[in-house]
Amino acid sequence: MNQVHMPTTVAELFGLLGSHPGARLMAGGTDLLVALRHTQQYTGTILCLERIAELSRIEEQPDGSVSIGAGVCFSKITSSLLLQQRYPLLTQAASTVGGPAIRTMATIGGNSVTASPAADSLPALYLLDARLELRTAAGQRTVAIDAFIIGPRRTMLQPGEIISRIILPPAEDWTIQRFEKVGRRKSLAIAVASLATLLRLSADGTVLEARFAWGSVGPTVIRCREAEQAVIGKRLSEETLRAAAELARQAVSPIDDIRATAEYRRTVAGNLLLRLLDS
Ligand SMILES: Cc1cc2nc3c(=O)[nH]c(=O)nc-3n(C[C@H](O)[C@H](O)[C@H](O)COP(=O)(O)OP(=O)(O)OC[C@H]3O[C@@H](n4cnc5c(N)ncnc54)[C@H](O)[C@@H]3O)c2cc1C
Repeated sequence: MNQVHMPTTVAELFGLLGSHPGARLMAGGTDLLVALRHTQQYTGTILCLERIAELSRIEEQPDGSVSIGAGVCFSKITSSLLLQQRYPLLTQAASTVGGPAIRTMATIGGNSVTASPAADSLPALYLLDARLELRTAAGQRTVAIDAFIIGPRRTMLQPGEIISRIILPPAEDWTIQRFEKVGRRKSLAIAVASLATLLRLSADGTVLEARFAWGSVGPTVIRCREAEQAVIGKRLSEETLRAAAELARQAVSPIDDIRATAEYRRTVAGNLLLRLLDS
């Protein structure tokens, strides 16, 4: 039988981590409980994060950046006016996680620590240059999301360390912010492939700046600079996007699994760019 603690402050959490060094952290539990039930015989201590108010806040900082507590669930992200206005890419991505019940429990911190190639918040966090604040009982450090994730389901998080906040730099003025996800059904679907896009266009529709990041088509999020370069200085025509799509298909490295073949994923990764035609 697991012993479960529900600290209400970060200081209390670190006290418990000190006295239970092997304890597992649980935020929403939507990954952890599945893992414990299906793959692991874990009878040790569980430390729940859900009552720690400090981890559940979305706050604008004096410099215009926005801090999202690691314990903020996806339904709170989708309903945040601040995030909807400043970072619609992230709120769109959050709205595709699982179904309503999952979004009420699943947190952005848990999504980052699980570091699944199919995690829906990650392509947006990569493009928005998100940084993670990692804390231990002794101190803290801040790392970029692309450095934090070191492989499929692998991160640089150390024992005794937690993610406390995700920090988004001051919002930039993007003309198009869009998240697209292809799954095997319309809701409660894990991504077969996904694409996050940020585009800045001139008044006549010429692309001035482009960022593209794919999920579920490689060991981690894949950003394809060649595809980004291929659209800069051009309008979003079918010809331009087809050329970028070909570069994207060369850049991704998908695998076969129960949801889709690698070849299908590669095709879809390129095709997702063509959806920008109706932007
Ligand atoms: C039915 C179902 C559908 C799903 N659909 C999707 C989907 O469409 N898209 C998607 O991306 N994911 C999906 N998921 C996966 C899951 O919901 C997400 O990955 C979710 O964000 C995990 O967050 P959590 O709070 O539940 O994490 P938990 O399960 O509580 O924790 C996951 C891991 O992170 C660690 N952890 C959590 N918070 C912290 C922290 N602050 N600091 C350090 N470590 C921490 C835990 O110890 C654990 O190892 C689905 C899951 C289920 C069960």
